[in-house]
Amino acid sequence: MLEIIKTVIKAIPIGLATTFKNIFRKPTTLQYPDVMPDLSPRFRGLHYLARYPDGTERCVCCGLCAAACPANCIYMEPMENEKGERKARIYIINEIRCIFCGYCEEACPEEAIFLGREFEFCKYNIPDFIYDKEMLLGVFDKIEKDRRVREGHKFIRNARFDFRSPVHAMKHPDYKREKTE
Ligand code: SF4
Ligand code: SF4
Repeated sequence: MLEIIKTVIKAIPIGLATTFKNIFRKPTTLQYPDVMPDLSPRFRGLHYLARYPDGTERCVCCGLCAAACPANCIYMEPMENEKGERKARIYIINEIRCIFCGYCEEACPEEAIFLGREFEFCKYNIPDFIYDKEMLLGVFDKIEKDRRVREGHKFIRNARFDFRSPVHAMKHPDYKREKTE
């Protein structure tokens, strides 16, 4: 009993000293999501499939990204478009299997697949982590939209909220606007 009392009496000033030592220090925690974290320049987040400036897809469905993927989470099937160019008919990334190593973007000869900086893509259902081609192109469209907002081209409401649930790229209002300009 005496030992316990001695320990408590000794522990209280040590604990208070630690509290007072840290009380005036700058907090290391962030008030997320009001304050966003400062991500490392090498951070790798949600994938996107890039387009050329005219809106056409860069991916030629060569399969090198799938061959390089150690988690075996990329699947694709090719097709020819109306101009006879090889494109992906199906292109899928299983984001729940992905280990975000970045080998796919390193392997891509067309600079078509990238890991972006988006990390807010939590979902309730596992199948929602299967990103198809339209979703991955939609992520690119939203990154482009955000970039234009940052550069002051136009104001778009809920841009960050939109980012969380990619829409079909061909239905994207910006995409249509670009095609008609
Ligand atoms: S980041 Fe790595 S694990 Fe994820 S799809 Fe690319 S190659 Fe595969
Ligand atoms: S994303 Fe790049 S590496 Fe993967 S299939 Fe398309 S062109 Fe090939």
